[in-house]
Amino acid sequence: MRAFLICTLIVFGLVGCSPSDKMQTNSNTDSVDLILTNGEVYTFSWSEPNGNGEPSDQAPFNNSRWVPDATTIVIDKGKIIAVGDDAIRSEYESSAKKVIDLKGNIVLPGLIDSHVHIAELGEVLSRANLIGVKTHQEAVERVMNYAKENNIKEGEWIVGQGWDEGAWADNYPTRSILDKAFPHNPVVLKSLHGFAVWANSKALVAANISASTQSPVGGFIVQGENGLPSGILLNRATTLMMDAIPPASDQVFEQWVLAGLNRMANDGYVAIHQAGADSRHINAFESLHRQNKLPIKVYAMISARDSELVEEWISRGPYIDPDGWFDVRSVKAYYDGALGSRGARLLDDYADQPGHKGVSGNQYGYNQVLVKRLMAKGFQVGIHAIGDAGNRETLDFFAEYFAKNPEAKSNRHRIEHAQILHPDDLPRLAELDIIASMEPAHAVEDKKWAETRLGPVRIAGAYAWRDLRRVNTKLILNSDLPGSDHSFFYGLHSAVTRKDKQMDPEDGWYPEQRLTAEETIFGFTRWPAFASFRENSMGQIKVGYAADLTVMNIDPLNMSSQQPSRLLNGKIMMTLVNGSVVNN
Ligand SMILES: [Zn+2]
Repeated sequence: MRAFLICTLIVFGLVGCSPSDKMQTNSNTDSVDLILTNGEVYTFSWSEPNGNGEPSDQAPFNNSRWVPDATTIVIDKGKIIAVGDDAIRSEYESSAKKVIDLKGNIVLPGLIDSHVHIAELGEVLSRANLIGVKTHQEAVERVMNYAKENNIKEGEWIVGQGWDEGAWADNYPTRSILDKAFPHNPVVLKSLHGFAVWANSKALVAANISASTQSPVGGFIVQGENGLPSGILLNRATTLMMDAIPPASDQVFEQWVLAGLNRMANDGYVAIHQAGADSRHINAFESLHRQNKLPIKVYAMISARDSELVEEWISRGPYIDPDGWFDVRSVKAYYDGALGSRGARLLDDYADQPGHKGVSGNQYGYNQVLVKRLMAKGFQVGIHAIGDAGNRETLDFFAEYFAKNPEAKSNRHRIEHAQILHPDDLPRLAELDIIASMEPAHAVEDKKWAETRLGPVRIAGAYAWRDLRRVNTKLILNSDLPGSDHSFFYGLHSAVTRKDKQMDPEDGWYPEQRLTAEETIFGFTRWPAFASFRENSMGQIKVGYAADLTVMNIDPLNMSSQQPSRLLNGKIMMTLVNGSVVNN
């Protein structure tokens, strides 16, 4: 720790530095764009922790306490040009165009969410929000305000979301109250969990739902007077309505993407990995990039399901943005389904459905030939695999390809989720240089039913972060938003406690798989920077690196061991991308 500080000071030209060290910082006669002062900065420029989660000797960790390793960051032209203590501040202050006093807040390298669905987040944010409404009338009022604020014109569809189908199950609203408020617009209001839809007459007509429409299998069209649809559709019947909503125009889609990115900027993220970018995503990212409107950096993983787009990129090859704002050098493919809906492919039958093992591979639309062609073109591949068979077959696929094409191994391929692994397969990820891309929140959200699906033995290999780290697997952490809350504090809390937001279970769910706070922060900063081939410019607070920084009001390293339940109260104070403040 002590040796580290001295070394830092030398590098930053404060004490006894040689002329070549001095070259790394600006001369104090030049002006610099920005100085951040009075921060409690954790640079994360030390060696990573070992597989048991023990910090390296270089880490600023002493007597079980973390100590911030800098207070001041000097930024010019989007890059960090000096990091150190108050002496640096004195050196640069007179020449700074701007000084921001961080007032003792904590600074981390900018957070990266390495698996998101950004347009869906923006779509949710752009819809009328009905979360928390108590009465039918209150819901209608909220939608009216939404329509007014968004200047919705006659005839335009109005879509909302968030009323609680559980709370209203004995007292569903009807179309008539919506018809009164919206005689000229189709209105569709999805419930909180998506199992019910409340629509007005205009929307029902547009969807061709009438008294004579049969309820589909697994669904129900609730009928009112004279057998006419009441306006409520349940379970599978919701798709009759949802499919009738016209797809967003390109312009609206781009607004969703931007709304999602802005929200991430506000929530402390400096970059996302879009896990499955179809052509609409790529067009929106390209357009926003062209207009200099991207608030944070985007690493796009092309959706292997968009075959036209894939063909286009196979002929173009990977795109690495010279400015680092928008890279297209990865592909997202899907190998099996999800555990909750019993689509994940298991080696043995589901514990709660004998005779059923889930689906995978060709059956699930996995196109091996296409993925191989992409790998041959130098793309990174991130394959969605959940079940133990899904993961094994995916590892077999990589192993077989690398045996014939050894050069492809270095392209930092990923398994998205890597959720359930057979013990025999655990060491194979590291052997094959495969990155495990995992969601801390999934463990605490799935715990209610995951063991029912898997039984007591297989559950030990599920969400097995510690086991994977012990065998040297490269791990990256993410939210898979909008399915899970993308708050960094929630991800961190899930990772270090294995408890949900209600602090359940008391001792954590399979707590032996917990990560440390240090590992978790690596998993949201340096390790995803590596996974996107940007480890030389992102993920650390270091001279020469992009000034991508996240400022927060809690010390996540010390709080995780001392008062982990308080992590959920953490707040993002500021997000900087290339030295510009991007939150508002
Ligand atoms: Zn996903």
